[in-house]
Amino acid sequence: MKKIKQVVISFVLMTILVLPTVVYADYEDEHAFWTGGFPASVIKLADYYEDPSVASFGYSYWTANARADYAGISNANIGFTNVGNYADAEIRFFVVSYGDDYGGIMNPYTSNGTLDVFMTNTWAKAHVIMNDKFMDDNNFTSTNRHKTTIHELGHAFSMRHQVSPTISVMRQGLLNYTDPQPLDISNLQWKY
Ligand SMILES: [Zn+2]
Repeated sequence: MKKIKQVVISFVLMTILVLPTVVYADYEDEHAFWTGGFPASVIKLADYYEDPSVASFGYSYWTANARADYAGISNANIGFTNVGNYADAEIRFFVVSYGDDYGGIMNPYTSNGTLDVFMTNTWAKAHVIMNDKFMDDNNFTSTNRHKTTIHELGHAFSMRHQVSPTISVMRQGLLNYTDPQPLDISNLQWKY
């Protein structure tokens, strides 16, 4: 028992000593991305589709602005084309009003339709989903919803979460970024 206690105490001490360097580190280049994702050949002109729910919940400006922001990054081959139908689209945008599990989510699928839970495979499709009910229930402002949309689309580029207090759209939470930040831009330039 005493031994266990000592182990716990030393683990706590170690965590306290180690945590600051971990917490404050930006994830750069390959560290900013999952290993799985779309091929670069898809990202350079991704076929997309907007479900009617995007307009009916009032998210059209944010999805359009998020696409334009990423497509406008210099020295990164990122682009979009609206194919206007679900079946042909590689990136599909939706707004749902569903429970309180998440504010937004990006679900990627492999070519056989399997959800790539661990983000390690090549993707054929991705669903970018914003949850209006969660955002209503958690008092998201318009700006918070704009940031959430940019964040979820960022996941479709395989960007993983950045850790607070890094300045990045890939941080989680009620934040007010309406554009990709310099760290996000340099990471995307590195990858694409
Ligand atoms: Zn996220």
